Amino acid sequence: MKYKFASDCHNHSACSPDGHDAIAAMCARAAELGLYAYTLTDHCECQKYEERYRARVENAWAQMGAVRPPEGLRFYRGIELGQPNQDTASAKAALEGRGYDFVIGSVHNIRDYEDFFFLEYKDAPAGYIGSLLETYWRELLELIAWGDFDSLGHLTYPLRYIEGEHGIPVDLKRHREAIDGVLSALIRAGKALEVNTSGLRQKIGRTLPDLPLLKRYRELGGRLVTLGSDAHSTADLGKGIEEGMDVLREAGFTEFAIYEKRQPRMLPLE
Ligand SMILES: [Zn+2]
Ligand SMILES: [Zn+2]
Repeated sequence: MKYKFASDCHNHSACSPDGHDAIAAMCARAAELGLYAYTLTDHCECQKYEERYRARVENAWAQMGAVRPPEGLRFYRGIELGQPNQDTASAKAALEGRGYDFVIGSVHNIRDYEDFFFLEYKDAPAGYIGSLLETYWRELLELIAWGDFDSLGHLTYPLRYIEGEHGIPVDLKRHREAIDGVLSALIRAGKALEVNTSGLRQKIGRTLPDLPLLKRYRELGGRLVTLGSDAHSTADLGKGIEEGMDVLREAGFTEFAIYEKRQPRMLPLE
């Protein structure tokens, strides 16, 4: 790795429904890559907690405690909470009694809709995509107001599908005010903004959020950033992290954060 402190703080093991590899294999790969720090963040979709995720969360926590990471690897235990704003009681239950190092807050679907991955965008009525995005920004504000997370996961997630998979361009200038509102709320709340590098290996071809939004976050006073590949297999672990660090440097950042016991530890972008 050209960056001494390259760290991957968003990825999934087989403890997630869409993950492929065991935690031990993920740790072994992190060590092989020479990552400075490795944080595993399996899924908990809060609105499906009781029927689909409670047992998974318990299992992931037990397995993270039992694994013996390779000598020298800084291994941290995290979780990615999906839509905690939609079911705060389940979000609380998922965190309670487990001493996570790092909690990602994400919105994968807006209330009463499926994950953005599953929605139909082609031939949608005029204004449909715009109104989906407006609801997405609003739910991000709810998530930030709820507050029991450390970093906001993959801001602009819907674009991974709308622009990336379906090739429908979205003019974010029309959403500038709403995005500024989200970034400012995040800064006021003392939460980090994640640079999710999955987009670099997907059709969208850029980080989530991308360079202009990272510049805007910094302009508004944002300094806390985290980095994650959002890998769902050992093969993707660490992918794009160094490019993500390049993007952060280009946006003017000199450091990024990893989290231990829910506290940020700043590391230089070198
Ligand atoms: Zn996610
Ligand atoms: Zn994820």
